Amino acid sequence: MTKLRLVDSGNICRLIVVFLLNAMYVLLTIFAFLMIEPFVKLLFRGHLDALSPLSEFVVSRLSSIVPMDQLSTSIVMIIFCAALLYFFRNLAAYSSLWVMAHVRSDFLYQLRNRLYDKMISLPLGYFNKENRGDAVTRAVNDAQEVEYTILNSVYLFLTDPLTLICYLAFLFYIDYQLSLWAVLLMPASFLIIGFLAHQLKRSSKSYRRRLGKLLSHVEETLSGLRVIYGFNAQERAYRRFNSLNTEFHENQKKVYRQSYLASPLSEFLGVSAIMVVLVIGGSLVLSSRSSLSAELFITYIALFSQVITPISRISSAFSDYKRGEAALDRIQDFLSIPDNVEDNGLVLPMPNFRDAIEFRDVSFAYTDVKVLSHVDLTIPKGKTVAFVGQSGAGKSTLADLLMRFYDTNGGDIFLDGVSIRKYGVEAYRSLFALVSQDVMLFHDTIYNNITLGMDATPEQVVEAAKTANIYDFVMSMPEGFNHVVGDRGMALSGGQRQRVSIARAVLRKAPVLVLDEATSAMDTESERLVQQSIEALSKQCTVVVIAHRLSTIRNADCICVLDQGRIVEQGTHEELMAVRGEYYQLVISN
Ligand code: ADP
Repeated sequence: MTKLRLVDSGNICRLIVVFLLNAMYVLLTIFAFLMIEPFVKLLFRGHLDALSPLSEFVVSRLSSIVPMDQLSTSIVMIIFCAALLYFFRNLAAYSSLWVMAHVRSDFLYQLRNRLYDKMISLPLGYFNKENRGDAVTRAVNDAQEVEYTILNSVYLFLTDPLTLICYLAFLFYIDYQLSLWAVLLMPASFLIIGFLAHQLKRSSKSYRRRLGKLLSHVEETLSGLRVIYGFNAQERAYRRFNSLNTEFHENQKKVYRQSYLASPLSEFLGVSAIMVVLVIGGSLVLSSRSSLSAELFITYIALFSQVITPISRISSAFSDYKRGEAALDRIQDFLSIPDNVEDNGLVLPMPNFRDAIEFRDVSFAYTDVKVLSHVDLTIPKGKTVAFVGQSGAGKSTLADLLMRFYDTNGGDIFLDGVSIRKYGVEAYRSLFALVSQDVMLFHDTIYNNITLGMDATPEQVVEAAKTANIYDFVMSMPEGFNHVVGDRGMALSGGQRQRVSIARAVLRKAPVLVLDEATSAMDTESERLVQQSIEALSKQCTVVVIAHRLSTIRNADCICVLDQGRIVEQGTHEELMAVRGEYYQLVISN
């Protein structure tokens, strides 16, 4: 896993442009401030004699362009010149922000893509331990926070130190004695702000964690609204939400208070510094020992007040950066979750299923407890194999291993004698079409739900819908295939959803169909239509059924009976009934 990079080479070039534009901004500011001395001199003394060398230089350039012999025109020219310098200075500032806008939004764009990409390749078991709301917080809020804080700080680190150095150099140039005093006051402010930044990072981390919990609860509530209404559990749901919200609210207050403190604190430290400078500078001007004139002292104070902004911004950039680091750490952790099914170095191309898929001595555990133990099983091409057994026996896990949603912990699975680990995960999975019991439909049209991004002609989609016995229903809708199925397909009945997902599987024309039978009750008509389409499919390909209703798999070529993660019986319906073992017990108790 590579470390999250903030910027690519294109953006590095943009950042260099930002830096150069800022350098221009600083120079123009200094020149604009140089106009103060001649202006004050003209105003109060009526002449431009004995200017400091830099001001002298600027004024002589100016007077070579426009005549400055009259007092009134000279004053107007100096003001006009200062205004012009200010205009270009602000143009440079805007241009640098304009370039920066690209860097910021581009970073966020890339980050969101990376996070989503990770989300759709997470190990299936990830959400056993983590909650969904937390993942959403990372994808949306943390990414935004990083943009807001870290990129803001990057911008400030890129511009403000140079501004500060140039301003300080100019201040030293005007009067080094006074400037030494000013510089002595700075480290104190950095120390105080640094301590605050550290505190802020700590509370920020827990703030993000709590927000994740809160969003998880909302997500859970919305997907379980039916249960909440059915059990009149609104009060309980509200109480739980309220307690999470209270925790979050307390934490949020703390973070806000800490971050709001950075700015007034640094401003106060800055103003105190000005006061000290005013006192020392004032006495220098009054004493005859110093060369500091009153006009130059005014220029000095004007520029010194400009130094406070970059200082206080650099200090708060530190605290922003720390806050952003907490969000960045969380994003980085998320992006470095290892995939539990990984392509190894030597990946074979798309397999061609010719003969059989075999489980040899397969064992598997999600955590410490073994869920499958020493399973041996053969799925011959073109046959229908059914897994039966009590709930929790391991049927779905067996199907998940077959499609390589997880890798086995012991033993291995072979496709025509080659370990399935040798194939690319995507290539191997393309052998399968899955019809799961909790049919996942997206808030989209029936057409798009059937194609699921696959290239298919409208004729093929109609054909698939017919095989899945959903065509007549689709045609009965006013918009036909453009009918939108609602959030998670809620606008359709359970049977309709199942048939849309069968149409999906038919369209893929995959060699193996894995069917996790719906456990929830369907009306007899729906069940008949679903059953019919499955029978049609089993003539075309290999079918693996996770059976919850034994009546539907009587014709299977092989029935595997699972009990506590072991295959205890295998055979056809007739063979298993004859031995009067587990299967027989299941059938008669059904
Ligand atoms: P079946 O499909 O026969 O009902 P499963 O394969 O779903 O059984 O589950 C087998 C065992 O594995 C059960 O004890 C179940 O609690 C456990 N299990 C299933 N999925 C997970 C998971 N994602 N994380 C941890 N344990 C799981």
